[in-house]
Amino acid sequence: MDGEDILSSLGDASDETEFYTPMPAGYRPGQTKYVFVLGTVMSGLGKGIFSSSLAKVFQDKGITVAPIKLEGYFNRDSGTLNPYRHGEVFVLDDGMECDMDLGTYERMLDQDLTSLNFTTSGRIFSTVLEKERAGGYLGRDVQMIPHVTGEVKNRLRELAVASRAQVIFVEIGGTVGDVENAYYIEAIRQLSYEEGPHSCCFVALTYILEPSTLGEQKSKPAQMNLKQLNAMGIHPHIIACRAQRPVTRKVREKLALYSNVPMERVFSMHDCDSIYVVPESLRGAGIDTAVVELLQLEDCVDREAEAAARSVWNGYISRFRQAACPVTVGIIGKYTTLRDSYASVIQALEHAGTALGARVSLEWIDSAELTDANVGERLRCVDAVIVPGGFGTRGVDGKIAAIQHVRMQGVPYLGLCYGFQVAVIEFARNVCGLAEANSTEVDVHTPYPVIDILPGQKSIEGMGATMRLGGQDLLVEPETLLSGLLGEREQYRLRFRHRYEVNPDFVERLEAGGLVFCGRSPHEPAANQPHGQRVMQALELPTEVHPFFLATQAHPELTSRPLSPDPMFVALVRAALARRGQQPAVSAVDSPVTVCAPADECGTGF
Ligand code: GLN
Repeated sequence: MDGEDILSSLGDASDETEFYTPMPAGYRPGQTKYVFVLGTVMSGLGKGIFSSSLAKVFQDKGITVAPIKLEGYFNRDSGTLNPYRHGEVFVLDDGMECDMDLGTYERMLDQDLTSLNFTTSGRIFSTVLEKERAGGYLGRDVQMIPHVTGEVKNRLRELAVASRAQVIFVEIGGTVGDVENAYYIEAIRQLSYEEGPHSCCFVALTYILEPSTLGEQKSKPAQMNLKQLNAMGIHPHIIACRAQRPVTRKVREKLALYSNVPMERVFSMHDCDSIYVVPESLRGAGIDTAVVELLQLEDCVDREAEAAARSVWNGYISRFRQAACPVTVGIIGKYTTLRDSYASVIQALEHAGTALGARVSLEWIDSAELTDANVGERLRCVDAVIVPGGFGTRGVDGKIAAIQHVRMQGVPYLGLCYGFQVAVIEFARNVCGLAEANSTEVDVHTPYPVIDILPGQKSIEGMGATMRLGGQDLLVEPETLLSGLLGEREQYRLRFRHRYEVNPDFVERLEAGGLVFCGRSPHEPAANQPHGQRVMQALELPTEVHPFFLATQAHPELTSRPLSPDPMFVALVRAALARRGQQPAVSAVDSPVTVCAPADECGTGF
């Protein structure tokens, strides 16, 4: 039976049949291919990196791809998750708050994603429950199988219709054996049957231990968990072994023996210096060819396009590896103990550094430990400072102290979202003489609420998806530092996630003190905005006053891509190089020409 025959036997919810396979209009079974990526043994293996890298290799071949991540948790989106536990909240252009892996997909594929590319159990179950109330199940008792699994299959097929992708890359969150994702695994098992032969490819990521006391790689946990996957009806076509060091042939043989996966499809995916080298290592291991064969996509491959895309990408990798000029950027934040909370900031700095031939090392500084007294010493060895996004009151005084220091000492500064708001507070207090200026997020009774809640936010109750979210254009003031950075670029669209903004009542006063609002929202204010002003979206200090002081209400780190680094980050790294007396590379060329100054007493930091 091909996919269509199978589906003609399925039917809709009724008493007549046990099958339940809702199908979006326009979907033709058997036409879309699916690659499913599952994790075994433990979480944090880099399923997103694997899946996005393989998708990138397929994209290079001229094949259209679309990724989706299925999360097991019941939150409807990632917006209410603590970044300290789950990593940064990534925001898509349409305002969807999602897992940080979506950032990896966007960067790897250079593609803007939408809420269709992400779902959670909370979303799946909400849909099922709403459908039940609307009488959508025709008197049936609503069950995990087939109704909840039917909704999962529907989501995947909706993405197939909307994206028109030839291959959908599906990442199942969590680990095989988790209760939360068991129904996702069941759904994809059903889907692979319904779509027919050569439609689906299953990849199991696993982990090979190497206990230092043994000095030997061990595959038992991987074997056991792969068996568990088999018991769920899934026999992977490919096994990708994560490990610290290259996985030995012996270990790969053992896995092949226990899982019936041919040796040439069991490969080592050991740690590497940049995630962007993974696409090339997948090619090197022949994984792309294996998947092309399994899905019978040979006729869709455009070898010339692939060679061209590959050489552009490899240019990035070699620039990254050759980048030699050390600069140190201090990141002053709250979640500095967990780097995943600032994943996109780290990536954006890598992109910018690579474009300029600079090797950026990071100095993590907990804002709660900074005071007026220790800030000078604490920031002595950094060449630039970033205050990234944040929420709440903890560590705000330390951020203010840091911003005052960098403003007065001419240290290059980039403020991101909260870092923009705190820069306004610092300027109001220390330059405009408004001593107790604050954000109403920190002090609701401040006499000078220079940062206040957005008018549209005042009446909102609850926490989920209630902020000003998603992509907005930035209207840039001509003849400013920012407009100079953008050059010929006609549009500068950035992502936003905030509840507070610059209070328009103070804009004149701040400008009179010398602060320049160089970016505003382009739209006329909505009728419910009593002040009738545009939202202030970026600020700067004139270059006569400070070599580089720029901040934005947006999150430019979210839209920086390896081959198109964000201009604000590039400018920050350039200013950091200049502070070290180094000449940045002229542009992103094949051989960086950066001239490094000798390491000073602060050392190179890496
Ligand atoms: N807490 C601030 C606000 O809600 C800044 C948010 C952020 O940094 N993402 O406006």
